[in-house]
Amino acid sequence: MLNIVIFGAPGSGKGTQSDKIIAEYGVAHISTGDALRNEIKKETELGKTAKGYIEKGQLVPDELVVGILASVLDSLGKSVPGVIFDGFPRDIEQAKILDKMLAERGEKVSTVIGLEVDDAELVKRIILRGQTSGRSDDNEETARKRLETYHAQTQPLREFYIRQGKYARIEGVGSIDRIYSDIKAAIEAVK
Ligand code: ADP
Repeated sequence: MLNIVIFGAPGSGKGTQSDKIIAEYGVAHISTGDALRNEIKKETELGKTAKGYIEKGQLVPDELVVGILASVLDSLGKSVPGVIFDGFPRDIEQAKILDKMLAERGEKVSTVIGLEVDDAELVKRIILRGQTSGRSDDNEETARKRLETYHAQTQPLREFYIRQGKYARIEGVGSIDRIYSDIKAAIEAVK
């Protein structure tokens, strides 16, 4: 199976590029952000807890996110050609959990697509997205906190995957199609 991790800061284009990868490769999409927002919408206990963290720009505790991830993974049909992990892992601990969950299923991470975008551009994109997304975390103050969280907790994962030879660095500023064609080349290299 093709197990793709799409990696990058908030606003780096993970969702946009995931849609293109899914359209081309037919892989299943697992977005922990979407899954958490769904729990918030349904007003579940988990959703209520998650909301507080999300609105502060912090990570939701592992046990909540991992539970959601496991149930989504288990619900996938046998016929899917692969999975794209969007928003997970977000720290080294989660990366280790993902490796373990995949190993239990006889799988491993195939490649990590790292979308690299500078912070000033990220804040601009998030504020712009906030005008239409309806997401309560898409405002300047929360965006800055999310970026701080990203640099402190998520960015160390870049080195973690570089050391494993799995990190494909993608310049994330430019046209959507150019970025996608770089991503496609990285996927073809591991297919
Ligand atoms: P973005 O990457 O643009 O910040 P996401 O939709 O991936 O947006 O995530 C939104 C929020 O959901 C994050 O700021 C975080 O609070 C929470 N979240 C999503 N995925 C995880 C995860 N793997 N671990 C902890 N919290 C998460």
